[in-house]
Order: sequence, then structure tokens, then C-alpha cells
Amino acid sequence: MDDIIKVYGASWCPDCRRAKRFLGDQRVSFEWHDIEVDPDGVRVVQERNNGNNIIPTIIFADGSHLAEPSNEELAEKIGLERMAMLHVYDLIIIGGGPAGLTTSIYAARENLQTLIIDSKGLGGQAGVTERLDNYPGFPDGIGGAELADRIVQQAQKYGVEMLQAVSVNAITTDGEECDVETATGDHYHARAVLIATGSTYRRTGAEGEEDLIGAGIHFCATCDGPFYKGAKELVVLGGGNSALEEGLFLTQFVDKVTIVQRGDRLTANKLLVDKVLMTSRMEVLYNRSVTSFRAKDDGSGKLGAITIQNTETGETEELHPAGCFVFIGLDPNTEFIKGQVDLDDRGLILTDMGLQTSMPGVFAAGDVRSGSTKQLASAVGEGAAAAIGIRMYLESLDSKPVHMM
Ligand SMILES: Cc1cc2nc3c(=O)[nH]c(=O)nc-3n(C[C@H](O)[C@H](O)[C@H](O)COP(=O)(O)OP(=O)(O)OC[C@H]3O[C@@H](n4cnc5c(N)ncnc54)[C@H](O)[C@@H]3O)c2cc1C
Repeated sequence: MDDIIKVYGASWCPDCRRAKRFLGDQRVSFEWHDIEVDPDGVRVVQERNNGNNIIPTIIFADGSHLAEPSNEELAEKIGLERMAMLHVYDLIIIGGGPAGLTTSIYAARENLQTLIIDSKGLGGQAGVTERLDNYPGFPDGIGGAELADRIVQQAQKYGVEMLQAVSVNAITTDGEECDVETATGDHYHARAVLIATGSTYRRTGAEGEEDLIGAGIHFCATCDGPFYKGAKELVVLGGGNSALEEGLFLTQFVDKVTIVQRGDRLTANKLLVDKVLMTSRMEVLYNRSVTSFRAKDDGSGKLGAITIQNTETGETEELHPAGCFVFIGLDPNTEFIKGQVDLDDRGLILTDMGLQTSMPGVFAAGDVRSGSTKQLASAVGEGAAAAIGIRMYLESLDSKPVHMM
């Protein structure tokens, strides 16, 4: 019997995309079978569902299957723990990316009872990054999943408790203790909370994008630009400050950088726009939107072509760059805390020098924090700094005089 999970579905099926994303977020390996191009797939699906075409149909290593499962059913099937052992902790960390995991290692080593709650899988964005070449200590680079696994193991070694596939919906405080409410309806309490929920890079939503992230589609030029040294062309999507800054940065690696902008002008500041327009190795295509991304035909699974449409004429054309960098915005994962802690105008959390937010006992670190650099090494550093800030905060509570009634 195969020990790999097999997902049968079709590219147009939103439930199939959701299930694939859920497994991917948990970093569970699976084989994708598109039943529209794999006739044997149709047979398997029908055999499993009494002759019906129900997708996604997911076959597990033990031979059992689930048809059209919810994320909760999938979480149960792959054995994810979704309820914590205790109700009260010294520290609750929301977000199990590099920042949150680092804080947890520091805290647990100091004997603080620590719980991490993550809405997806542990490791955060680092866990889904193909390769990291700029993280100190790994001269040959390291796979994102491997690094994430190592950090998780280190946290486990010190007894950090971790929940996955559980979102935090709200944090409230009575001034002494915080109440953390999860989407599963559970409430956990702690004197200190760390928000390390990161930010989500906006995606185009175009067909094929999801499967090519990290395999030709990127969101960070500093991180992934050097992989393309010597290539002919890179495409940058977007026309704002980040897109142009990163586009200019990428020109040092390749012959040409093509900026693809939806609107009829670039929206970055004038200085940047002028610089881009004066750079001979940059071309700007206006009024173009991406309709799909396609993998190469050679089976490598790498980006082969981008189809863009002229929004004025309706005409489509294909671009064949070595890679594509998407800079169409960043959404901080702060929806659940809006109105509770102070945010900057981009929705990132404001903190003081000790990384404490405007809510007493609630700290923030990593990509979710205003002023963060959106780099792994910084997220880890902020995780360590937050741990020290939290320790000082808890010590200050312990030394408070007790008022006798
Ligand atoms: C494709 C890609 C490639 C990258 N490559 C590099 C690189 O080469 N070098 C580099 O330095 N940096 C790189 N980065 C950036 C780096 O990964 C991030 O800076 C780093 O992961 C930030 O860590 P974090 O812990 O702050 O947030 P994240 O890693 O984003 O982790 C946040 C976690 O919080 C969870 N979460 C969100 N909302 C909730 C909620 N409501 N309840 C519970 N949990 C929640 C998320 O599921 C996630 O696991 C890359 C990023 C991406 C996307």
C-alpha cells in the first residue's frame, strides 16, 4: 500500500483547492491527481463513491478515504491536536512561525508553561519556503521545511505545547489576565500573550498561482532574487513602491525586469517612477492583468509562462520569464485584534521598545509588528526580544505589592 496521501479532484474545484491548501499548510505531503487529465482518476473517484463523481476524494495511507471533507474532518484524520491540555498558561503565543516558536523556546527554558496556537501549520511562512539562503549558520542554505522542523523540535524538547489548525478569534483582558478565544470555541487564559501572526502577501488569485509559489513565483526579492543570477528576464507584478524598489533591486541579477501593472500609471513615489523609467533594462507594461500561470512542460514543476491580458483591448499574450515576483500588497494578520490594540495605518501592530502593545500583557513580534523587516532572521530576533520583554513584564507583576482588603 502507498504511504502517500492521494488527492483526486479538478483544477476548477474550489473545495479541492481548499483541501490541498489545508494539507500544504500542515506540510503534509500528498499526490495530486487531476481527474480531468487522468482518466484513471475518474475510475478511482467513482469506485470510492458508489459510482458518483465526488471531489475532492482523498485516499489515506491506511487505505481509507474521505469524500469532500471539511478542514475539521481532515485535521482529525491526520491526527492534529486541536484542544490544549490546560486552561491556564503562563504565556500563550498566537502564531507558530519563527517569531512565535523562538519566544516559546526562551520562555519554556525559563519554566514558563507555554502554549502555541496556530491557525495553519507550525513553521509559518518559513515552513513553506523552498530554500533559505540568507539565514545565518547555513552556508549551503537550508530548506524552509527542514529549518521549521528543527525549530519545532527544539521547542518540543522544552515542553512547549502546540495546537495546529486552530485560529484565534479574539483576545480580551481584565487587566490582570488575558482570555484567548479560539475558533473552536475554547477559551485559554494567561498573564502574558504574544501575537506573532505574521502577514500574508497578497496573491493575484490567477489560475495556477498556488501550485507555483516557491517554484517560480515569489514575494521577496531580497530572499529569492539571487537564485536568478544570470537569467534573461524576471517579471514583477505591481506598480507601487515595493514593486518598483524590488524591481530595481532585481536588475542586478538579470538582463531585463518587466513590470506588469494593472492600471495606466505607476503609483509609486515620483523618485522611484523616474528611476524605473530611466533604467534601460526595465520595461513597464500598463493596463495588464494576469489571467494564469503555467508550469513548464518538462515536468520540473517550475514556472513556464504567465498569460496576461490587456484590460483595454482584451488581447492576451504570454510572457516566459525565469521567475515572477508579486508585490501587490501585504495584509497583516491582525483582523482578530482590530480595535483592541493600536495598529499603524497599514494594520500592523504598534509596540513599545519592549515589544508590548497598547494592551497590557500583550506583546507582538515578527512580520505582524509595525517596523518589522519581513525577514526570517529579524523575526527570530524579535521572538527572542519579546521573550525577554515578557519575562520582565511577568517579574514586574510578581513583585507588585499585594493589596489586602
Ligand atoms: C515564499 C516566501 C519566501 C521567503 N523567503 C525568505 C528568505 O529567503 N529569507 C528570509 O529572511 N525571509 C524569507 N521570507 C520571509 C520570512 O519567512 C518571514 O519573515 C518569517 O516567516 C516571519 O515570521 P513570523 O513568525 O513573524 O510570521 P509567519 O512566518 O508568517 O508565521 C505566522 C504564523 O501565524 C499563524 N496565524 C496567523 N493568523 C493566526 C490566527 N488568527 N490564529 C492563530 N495563528 C495565526 C500563521 O498560520 C503562521 O503560521 C519568505 C516568505 C515567503 C512567503
